[in-house]
Amino acid sequence: MGIQPTEPNCPLCDAPPNSMWRDRGGRDAWYVDCVRCGRFSITDMVVINGLEPTQKAPLSAFCRRVPRGAEPPTISSNNITKLISMIPQYTPPEKLDSLLERMGRMSAGLGEYTTFDPAKDYPLVIAKNAGEVNFLTRELQRRGYVDGTLEGFYLTSSGWERLEQIRKSGPTSNRVFVAMWFQESMSLIYDEAIAPAIRESGYDPLRIDRHEHVNRIDDEIIAQIRRSRFMVADFTGQRYGVYFEAGIMLGLGRTVIWMCDKKELDGEKLHFDVRQFNFIDYESVQDARKRLYNRILAIEGEGPGQFEKPG
Ligand SMILES: [Zn+2]
Repeated sequence: MGIQPTEPNCPLCDAPPNSMWRDRGGRDAWYVDCVRCGRFSITDMVVINGLEPTQKAPLSAFCRRVPRGAEPPTISSNNITKLISMIPQYTPPEKLDSLLERMGRMSAGLGEYTTFDPAKDYPLVIAKNAGEVNFLTRELQRRGYVDGTLEGFYLTSSGWERLEQIRKSGPTSNRVFVAMWFQESMSLIYDEAIAPAIRESGYDPLRIDRHEHVNRIDDEIIAQIRRSRFMVADFTGQRYGVYFEAGIMLGLGRTVIWMCDKKELDGEKLHFDVRQFNFIDYESVQDARKRLYNRILAIEGEGPGQFEKPG
């Protein structure tokens, strides 16, 4: 066979990348620029050991959803699990909603074809491949939310109405549930870091004040968690309620962003079971705000954008 000097395929989607080049700083790694998976670097160790198909699809989704202008992620043997855990796991109905939202966001206006291209944009909706997107698109069409021709697909008026509805509730809503200790000492971190980081990335923070001595989670809180797209949970102060609320969100299969003051995380105060998660261990309010903002963009793609119903 001999050595072929040709460029290898993209290690995440196994198709030819735009370009792929060796790290010039002496690291044993590749840089990849792929129309499907975006830009990322990947160590030789990962390429040589190979990735399972069940790892490739979420890693591709993770890399593609990093916003333009942000630092491209590096995939190495010791962060694969962490990166995969940051990708939301959608149920089939949530996948339909997510595809409809993406198609709408990538439409210039009423009756215009969406620029969403299943062949290259499937990682944006965390699908395994274009085939899965085509299946979901047919289902959206069957429900009357999109219609199409050989030229492409566009949202119908029922589709735009459905979008308005799903953006008000559930995993495609704009709402972000904030679970944290309600104590005077925490108001700075909420007002100056958590709330602004959520707003700047295009979402609405929701914080439910309640009496700390009532050590139970009421139905209202569970309902609000259900209606939220993801959760920001700050474990500083080690409140029972924060663990419980994060557990509910995990049970719904939605994303929880873990935060804690670095002093408490270092002090090993955190409950053992949650130490496995990728915590934002902030050292200051500014640090918390910047890292939370970056984390939201990393897990949620480019954010919901300024979505307006055209026409
Ligand atoms: Zn790729």
